[in-house]
Amino acid sequence: DRANSIDAALRGRARRVIPGGLWGHLNAANLPEGYPQFFASGEGCRLRDADGREFVDLMCAWGPMVVGYRHPAVEEAARRQAERGDAMNGPAPVLVELAETLVEMIPHADWCLFEKNGTDATTACVTIARAGTGRRKVLVARGSYHGAAPWCTPSLAGVTAEDRAHILHFDYNDAASLQAAAEDAKGDLAAVIVTAFRHDMGRDLELPDPDFARTAREICNATGAALILDDVRAGFRLHLGGSWETIGVRPDLAAYSKAIANGHALSAVTGGDAFRDAAMRIYTTGSFWCAAVPMAAAMATLAELRRVDGPAHMRAMGDRLRLGLDALAARHGIGIRQSGPPQMPLLLFEGDSDWQRGAAFCAAALRAGAYFHPRHNMFLSCAHAPSDIDLALQAADEGFAAVARMG
Ligand code: PMP
Repeated sequence: DRANSIDAALRGRARRVIPGGLWGHLNAANLPEGYPQFFASGEGCRLRDADGREFVDLMCAWGPMVVGYRHPAVEEAARRQAERGDAMNGPAPVLVELAETLVEMIPHADWCLFEKNGTDATTACVTIARAGTGRRKVLVARGSYHGAAPWCTPSLAGVTAEDRAHILHFDYNDAASLQAAAEDAKGDLAAVIVTAFRHDMGRDLELPDPDFARTAREICNATGAALILDDVRAGFRLHLGGSWETIGVRPDLAAYSKAIANGHALSAVTGGDAFRDAAMRIYTTGSFWCAAVPMAAAMATLAELRRVDGPAHMRAMGDRLRLGLDALAARHGIGIRQSGPPQMPLLLFEGDSDWQRGAAFCAAALRAGAYFHPRHNMFLSCAHAPSDIDLALQAADEGFAAVARMG
């Protein structure tokens, strides 16, 4: 009985002391009936909620979990660093090791900086681009998410027009609109910022069109503006050298977070030598940014991703899921659309403008033990084995049956 659950009691207490019960995108009020808000534990690709229900998880903490919840090698590295120190008067040696590792892994990177959140990293990229070019305008794709700071938050509450004064928009994958926006910037262009692929909430995902990506690169080459790749969401899932290695276009600056340390709090900015001096001149810091435990966790996470060829494994699991969902939907006679890279799949239903079919699918699949998302791209991990995908598909079968009952 969900009304008398531990989750419901916690939500009731939270509503009194936390505005709206929870800030931001992890608020389960945005999810169909029956989804838990609170989780007790995770292991591998399984999550247990506060009431003890277990799920095969297809959200991976919205990206950070990439090699498995409580991965033994990652947690061992974190624990060994924690025994020596975490936040200290300066960084631990692991800072240099991690920076060397990223510079070696990521072809465009000659240097990197570490921060805590994706927003820190995308915002620092913009600041570095402006410092390096001495210009102001930043081109952002309409509807793209780059974080929660005033220059980019999707909510305009508390944001002033001045915060957005130098942001110009284009349409993702539309080279002509990007060129037009660059012309509007009239010699004041500091940066073009793009996500790894188009992943606006609630619409089909779109892989980057190589012509569009090359146009972005050419505009930046011609003007000296920085091409910024916001790889916060996709980084280390599609390609270990940066997500646009898949289409052969290299950025000047890139932002990483989410998967970099398998859930430990860390983000990174990588950049080429052209922006090294600008990265030295901007002021960027934070109380916890040199903390050593997440960096040790990142070293172990990246080593594991390389050891198992994480992107290839996640692609194989994503393909298995996609094929299975297509077969089940066909058997139930239900129209679906699957989009995006297999490692970060999205499932939408035909004729579902009010999201009722997706909600019914997800609620039934959840009851059957798999945590899908109705509108946001999902995430695979190295902890998903074929047998886990098959369990998720068994739950999906229940989900499709529920949709079929809607008529
Ligand atoms: N950029 C992209 C593409 C993201 O997906 C996110 C997080 N969802 C961010 C930036 C912001 O990261 P954070 O929430 O860690 O600040």
